[in-house]
Amino acid sequence: MSILKELETRLPADAEITEVKFEGSEIVLYTKNKEFFRTSEDFIKDIVRDLKKRIEIRPDLTIVEGEEETKKIIEDIVPKEAQIAAIYFEPELGKVVIEAKKPGLVIGKAGMTYRMIRDKTCWLPKIERAPAIESKIVRAVRNLLHSEIDYRKTFLNRVGQFINTPQASGDDRRKEWVRLVALGGFRQVGRSCLLLQTQYSTVMMDCGVNVGAGGKDAIPYFDAPEFSIEKLDAVILSHAHLDHSGLIPYLYELGYKGPLYCTPPTRDLMVLLCMDFLDVNQREGREIKYTKKSVEKAVKHSITLEYGEVSDITSDLRLTFQPAGHLLGSSMVHLHIGDGLHNLVYGADFKFGVSRLFDPAYKDFQRIETLIMESTYGSADDIVPNRREIEASFFDIIGRTIANGGKVLIPVFGVGRGQEIMAILANGHAEKQFDCPVYLEGMIWDATAIHTAYPEYLSSYMQKKIFHYGENPFLSDIFHRVSPKDRDGIIDSTEPCIILATSGMLIGGPSVEYLKGLAPNEKNLLLFVGYQGEFTLGGKIQRGWRELPIKSSEGRTRTLEIKLQIETIKGLSGHSGRNQLMGYLYNIASKPERVIFNHGEEKKCFELARDVHKVFRAETLVPNNLESVRLR
Ligand SMILES: [Zn+2]
Ligand SMILES: [Zn+2]
Repeated sequence: MSILKELETRLPADAEITEVKFEGSEIVLYTKNKEFFRTSEDFIKDIVRDLKKRIEIRPDLTIVEGEEETKKIIEDIVPKEAQIAAIYFEPELGKVVIEAKKPGLVIGKAGMTYRMIRDKTCWLPKIERAPAIESKIVRAVRNLLHSEIDYRKTFLNRVGQFINTPQASGDDRRKEWVRLVALGGFRQVGRSCLLLQTQYSTVMMDCGVNVGAGGKDAIPYFDAPEFSIEKLDAVILSHAHLDHSGLIPYLYELGYKGPLYCTPPTRDLMVLLCMDFLDVNQREGREIKYTKKSVEKAVKHSITLEYGEVSDITSDLRLTFQPAGHLLGSSMVHLHIGDGLHNLVYGADFKFGVSRLFDPAYKDFQRIETLIMESTYGSADDIVPNRREIEASFFDIIGRTIANGGKVLIPVFGVGRGQEIMAILANGHAEKQFDCPVYLEGMIWDATAIHTAYPEYLSSYMQKKIFHYGENPFLSDIFHRVSPKDRDGIIDSTEPCIILATSGMLIGGPSVEYLKGLAPNEKNLLLFVGYQGEFTLGGKIQRGWRELPIKSSEGRTRTLEIKLQIETIKGLSGHSGRNQLMGYLYNIASKPERVIFNHGEEKKCFELARDVHKVFRAETLVPNNLESVRLR
């Protein structure tokens, strides 16, 4: 533990340190000296600069104020407008957790209020946002982490010791190597899984499930010779979509006990999606190799990083997440390997274009040797139209239906598209593009609640609305959360309305129930805003099927005649279109020497690779699953 020794020599003589612990890549010191606790900021700044480690000073329990007294002090200091929702303690970590609707007011101007709480109570304040819409998932995740503090303290210390174990010295730098193994999601969409190996570390990036496929085709190649659960040092999750996260809990079922790195929203959305995945499969009698307990294990081992926060994750890998513009908390993964040996960016799913919810993907990487990028819309004709035109035709189509006295059904994927459409509708309503209620049914509401817990992960447009104008588009009064018992009333009413319901491809769920009710009336409209799989009900309707066999609730099959209008709006996807993928390579700060393509149909991957090679003269590769590439 040489780093701790070095730290010790630099501490002031009267620091009275009672405990030194790692918390992942961070070092935590507990002190019995009140003065040192209050004034250690400058001291830390110097050390952080020299040791390149984050350090936090926390109070030993002998110096903190009593809990009741502390609560009183906090309520006195913090302005009422902050709307404190809860105050509780984590004595094991010397922290008082303050949950507030407006956390900025608990921190105060330049951190003044925060410091006042710290100095008066000698607890270290941890300030969390209370979601504007109460979220069961956010609550459950926070409760779980809170109840597992003891386990996490030991776990995070173990991770820190591992990260800070020096490599065997005397190794010849010229012999260092880096290789990438494709375990899933190459020349296909679904089951994304990549293994990165160096002389010293093995980490996995994403571990997804191919929801549309069955059996072994649904899961990554866990039987590849390179993969061994015992040798896995860390897992990195780019974002919460199931084709990236669906089998993360399975790793813990297999016995993995190491860290899961992701952003805080990715962690919470992963819980929502994996739990729903388990429910759906259970209802349909399909066996999944893990349980809700495994999802909890993943949360227990999660280490969250904000965008731009740099963290060592093994002795030779340094990780940074940057915004990907694709989904709440979605990240491009930057790995700095060795001491300047190699820089890899795993782009995962990214959108290099504006949307209501997110700013375009981050492009200011200072050094990239290898870029791995998606090819979902890699064909030359996968062009995304201009955003303004898309929204204009969206409201044009909706406006015509409403003027005609019809109802609009928009099947949406609960996480991501659902919220994007909500943001577009809230804006359109404010601009008087339409005026009727919008009903939401299915997972959309739970996902929206999670979005309200992390507004700082949304676009600058959304943040301006929420923080400067106090108008949260998700809280607009046009939105009404409804449940199955409200369906008949909505379908039978003569008033026009808009219905957002899951599932997005009409595979099942409330969207199909609404379709059954709305299909016979030609005044109504079915509006597709997302990709429809070939074999799904949505796909069939898009291809022109107008008489569909459906099962009634009693299990009898009958024919559903589709008379309502059908329209598709393209370009609202969270993925980059072909023009945006190429645009990304034009705009990226550091031109990669090598670009590897994945996450796309085989044909699209090759088409994109060919054109990138032609235009940018970079080495391009389209590996197949099970292939490995030596990066260095
Ligand atoms: Zn995705
Ligand atoms: Zn994906």
